[in-house]
Amino acid sequence: MAYVVTQPCDGCKYTDCVTACPCECFREGDRMLYIDPVECIDCDACVHECPVEAIFPEWSVPAEWESYIALNAEMAAKLPAITEKKPPLTGE
Ligand code: SF4
Ligand code: SF4
Repeated sequence: MAYVVTQPCDGCKYTDCVTACPCECFREGDRMLYIDPVECIDCDACVHECPVEAIFPEWSVPAEWESYIALNAEMAAKLPAITEKKPPLTGE
């Protein structure tokens, strides 16, 4: 099991979440971040740092965002890690 970044993250990228993670789980996409499910230890720390409540435990992801569980795993496998808070990116 792991934690999952979902739709509200799209376009945010304030990245408050990454500094809370003790395991460097976050990966940086063009428009949002993803969590590597292999690295995540389910510590819950990142959830409280996200201002838009985009992060859920895999077992309580809202039904409309269930596809993000597979998407996080797929994207995390090919994107670089992000461990420092950054200015927002637009993906443009
Ligand atoms: S703080 Fe939330 S919305 Fe912002 S990058 Fe992290 S998960 Fe995405
Ligand atoms: S639950 Fe913990 S280990 Fe998993 S991504 Fe969030 S902060 Fe990192």
